[in-house]
Amino acid sequence: MSREIYLDHGATTPILKEAKDAMEPYLTKEYGNASTSYELGERAKAAIESSRRVIASCMGASPEEIFFTSGGSESDNWVIKGIAGMKKQQGNHIITTKIEHHAILHSCKYLEGLGYRVTYLPVNEEGIVSLKQLEKEIGKGTTLISVMFGNNEIGTIEPIVSIGRLAREHGVLFHTDAVQAVGHFPIRLSEMPIDLLSASAHKFGGPKGIGFLYVAKGVPIPSYIHGGTQEKGKRAGTENVAGIVGMGKALEIMTSNMRKNMMHEKALRNYLIERVLHEVPGAKLNGSRYQRLPGNVNFSFKGVEGTALKVLLEEDGICASVGSACNTGQSRVSHVIEAIGVEEDYAPGTMRFSLGYENTREEIDFLVECLKQYVPILAGD
Ligand SMILES: *Cc1c(COP(=O)(O)O)cnc(C)c1O
Repeated sequence: MSREIYLDHGATTPILKEAKDAMEPYLTKEYGNASTSYELGERAKAAIESSRRVIASCMGASPEEIFFTSGGSESDNWVIKGIAGMKKQQGNHIITTKIEHHAILHSCKYLEGLGYRVTYLPVNEEGIVSLKQLEKEIGKGTTLISVMFGNNEIGTIEPIVSIGRLAREHGVLFHTDAVQAVGHFPIRLSEMPIDLLSASAHKFGGPKGIGFLYVAKGVPIPSYIHGGTQEKGKRAGTENVAGIVGMGKALEIMTSNMRKNMMHEKALRNYLIERVLHEVPGAKLNGSRYQRLPGNVNFSFKGVEGTALKVLLEEDGICASVGSACNTGQSRVSHVIEAIGVEEDYAPGTMRFSLGYENTREEIDFLVECLKQYVPILAGD
């Protein structure tokens, strides 16, 4: 392949060079176990705690509120299963939405199998949950509300502050899966009514297999992995020191470049949306026009099979997703596209282009030319 145009940052992001360089010593000469008490181990411990402070500061949180996990899926599983189990004397009802990531949805399905009750809130055609409907569903037995910050497929940003306020008024814990937002969108946890938040390093320029869970001071959470005393005994296991260091460095850089990156991505995003809606026949934008993640674009093309379009784009070196990466291999329309009610003749032709700070206008121009050429052929006009 002569060139690669990476437009799938919602699936994962390229690792930042600074993050990779920061990790390198902890993969080689600094191999200490942070639980040991000679200098080699203490240096590993110091590196972990320094990353915890950096991450806390980037998020407007305190270091004691940051727990390291293996990524977004683990953080989500921990919250859903942990809170449900801990609160089962108080109630067995959880509220979430129809458009969550499968790490949330499948954890909830698992709980339903154990006898818990789960409400999956619908969303409007832009993918936004209704506060009125949410309030109606909160009952005496509700112990947790989990609503994602920004949707991974259609990019919609949910009214997180209003949802959090509503949860507090009713004395219900509020969790948000912010995996797509952290490092890309400003979040100051000390100023937001959020009790728990999930994040994953590989979605913001860090390495794969590492993430964190924010647990606000005073919010109880049970141990998830039982064993040693790491992470205050709540998440046992020898720490992924290199991963933690890489994640801290990545978030530090993404946070200091955030304004610049957001402006760049939004400009490219809006340019791509305008051009495609004007120049590609039968194209429709999914999600909200403006209340969306800076780098997210999601189109449905009428009468087109998304998988066929993806193959053609791939031959030109363009990496993008049909529906959601998690659904690869399944021809079923994604649960998010179903939830926003995309029409039957559009739904199978859904593709996500998720942009990053390193994408250029030339790359977007090339994508548009490809779409102008392929979409009419595949639609058979
Ligand atoms: C990628 C993603 C996850 C899963 O994170 P991993 O670190 O890959 O396990 C969870 N939620 C959302 C919204 C995501 O985009």
